[in-house]
Amino acid sequence: MTAISADHLYELFNRSKQNTENVIKTAPLGICITDPNGHFEMVNPAYCQFYGYREEELIGQHFTLVVPAAYRQQMAELHDVFIQGNETHELRQEWEVRCKNGETRTIIAEAARTIGDDGKPRKVTFVVDITQRKRLEERLTQANEQLVYMASHDELTGLVNRRQGLKRLEEELKRCERYGGELSIAMFDLDDFKAVNDTYGHATGDNVLQEVTAKVNGQLRSTDVQVRLGGEEFLIIMPEINAQAAHTAMERIRQCVAESPCTEHRLSVTLSAGIACYVEASSTRMLDRADKAMYQAKQNGRNCVVIAPSAM
Ligand code: GH3
Ligand code: MG
Ligand code: MG
Repeated sequence: MTAISADHLYELFNRSKQNTENVIKTAPLGICITDPNGHFEMVNPAYCQFYGYREEELIGQHFTLVVPAAYRQQMAELHDVFIQGNETHELRQEWEVRCKNGETRTIIAEAARTIGDDGKPRKVTFVVDITQRKRLEERLTQANEQLVYMASHDELTGLVNRRQGLKRLEEELKRCERYGGELSIAMFDLDDFKAVNDTYGHATGDNVLQEVTAKVNGQLRSTDVQVRLGGEEFLIIMPEINAQAAHTAMERIRQCVAESPCTEHRLSVTLSAGIACYVEASSTRMLDRADKAMYQAKQNGRNCVVIAPSAM
């Protein structure tokens, strides 16, 4: 090994120190050092730039200056625990922070505990800005929720759509099969609805569908589910209800709709309904029975409710 002169060693040491300082200054992530009381002792340019403060505005201030008021106490306590503890590294964690201009941003912070030249502990925190990623994630989550909603609901009335409604009916049938209990469905269709569209236009027809939906919903129990099967045809799933009670409920709904005119044209709208109660765990056959009863209601002159025979 070649001997290094003291001068050369001194020069190497200075260069190494300079390099370390350069790394901290040019690092693309925010770095700060806080003293045992939580006051800033060092902040690098990326840290200042991210928070929008000048270095001299931060040095000596408590680090919770960049923490939203709601978390200040919690963050200050975590800082104290870490500074006084034995762990050398703090787990990576996501935090909301507050910039000088009041903007809230999201960071990932990771920290290490070091010992200062006075022998006291320091906390070195590394900060990565993940605000953009976080916002994108939130937008994706929202878009996803919207897609899930759209796939299971009808846009015009906001009701559960056919697919989701039939799924729900299957679940209720399974529940009946497993635990017993009653279940009825009511299928209904608006009477002579084509005439509404033909006379007042499609937009008025749409308004009628929305108003009838609201009227029916207003008459239902919280456990009942109204489904738009398609067009002007609807289904109501009524758990724990026998055919006779479903008939009474549907009669009330029929009257309510028939007696309150719809839209600014004050249109008189009526419906015909078929009721079927649970006899076996087949949604297809149950719907078919309700459909036939509804057809019978149409045959009987419309604006009435018919109960399907239990066996067909
Ligand atoms: P019935 O008493 O026998 O049921 O007669 P109807 O005229 O109601 O029956 P039909 O099946 O002949 O007509 C249903 C009409 O419902 C035809 C269609 O244009 C209309 N319709 C279906 N979906 C919509 C919708 O979303 N909006 C509007 N405005 N009309 C719709
Ligand atoms: Mg109709
Ligand atoms: Mg129809």
